[in-house]
Amino acid sequence: MKLEKLVRPNILKMMPYSSSRDEFKGEAQVFLDANESPFGKLNRYPDPHQVTLKSKIANQWNVKANQIFIGNGSDEIIDLIFRIFCTPGVDKALSFVPTYGMYKVSAQLNDVEMVEIPLNKGFDVDESIIDKALEERDVKIIFLCSPNNPTGNILSEECITRLLKNFDGIVVMDEAYAQFSNQPSWSEKLADFPNLLVSQTFSKAWSLAAARVGIAFGNPEIIKLLTKVKPPYNVSELNQKAALDILLKSARIYQNTLVLKSEREKMIAALNGYSFVKRVFPTQANFILISVAKPQKLYQFLLQNGIIVRNRSSQIDGCLRISIGTKKENQTLIKALDRFKKLEK
Ligand code: PMP
Repeated sequence: MKLEKLVRPNILKMMPYSSSRDEFKGEAQVFLDANESPFGKLNRYPDPHQVTLKSKIANQWNVKANQIFIGNGSDEIIDLIFRIFCTPGVDKALSFVPTYGMYKVSAQLNDVEMVEIPLNKGFDVDESIIDKALEERDVKIIFLCSPNNPTGNILSEECITRLLKNFDGIVVMDEAYAQFSNQPSWSEKLADFPNLLVSQTFSKAWSLAAARVGIAFGNPEIIKLLTKVKPPYNVSELNQKAALDILLKSARIYQNTLVLKSEREKMIAALNGYSFVKRVFPTQANFILISVAKPQKLYQFLLQNGIIVRNRSSQIDGCLRISIGTKKENQTLIKALDRFKKLEK
């Protein structure tokens, strides 16, 4: 893979913005360089390179700091990838559907055509699907999501490996739900695949959705490009701090993840017991996709009972997506489903 050939010429040529924090990095008593206010507690710009956070993430994930990019949520990372690699109106991106909606939204926002190839019946990729993807022309980026949202399943390791070996562009592996799955992260394979960019997030297992902190792991050349195009202060001081604080509590996060995984298994068993649930799809995420006879009716019923799930019927016929909550929340849902069952008799 020749990275320069994939990057938009204007991005290769441009000079990145140089912030005050880029130009001076040492200790000083008086900072009069960034037009900040001298008053207050949040008066200084945050570290644009998130050095402390990256070094902690490097330890936790066992990667090098120069293989890490931090975004304002992983949604920002998705958008930046389009801007780096896809010339509007010329280059294409590809995804396997159904999948996370932001790939398409970001593509449209950037005036990039999104080629969508349907996943197979098990919502997985297979040899023929990979063949189709590899036949497409002008595709610069392929988005994969594993565990996939909204289906919950992980994607075939063999097929992805074949894609990574044979696709002459960037493969983005979105692992927003990685901590809930039994699969190792693709970030462990960065050394094998220079075209692989793995994204994870503090929004799910790490319980920090409000803080907007996403992580990309990739070869240092791709990380440099992301750093070149990002807004200078894309992750606020408060959000960097929130991520650093939560990393100190990783034992508790691990415990919470175990609880959610065990609640998920209980919920799968409960859902399988209702005759109005036609299918509970296999999941390795913190949500479950179910197919029901009357999705709108069940959705409305739950809503009237103060429970909000996601109606995914427009994407996958007859399907609702249910997140795993606390034990108490899940019991509330099961009680409501019991009431619905009586109504349906
Ligand atoms: N990827 C997937 C698969 C998601 O489901 C989500 C959020 N629902 C995101 C990325 C975005 O996460 P973030 O909060 O890090 O922007």
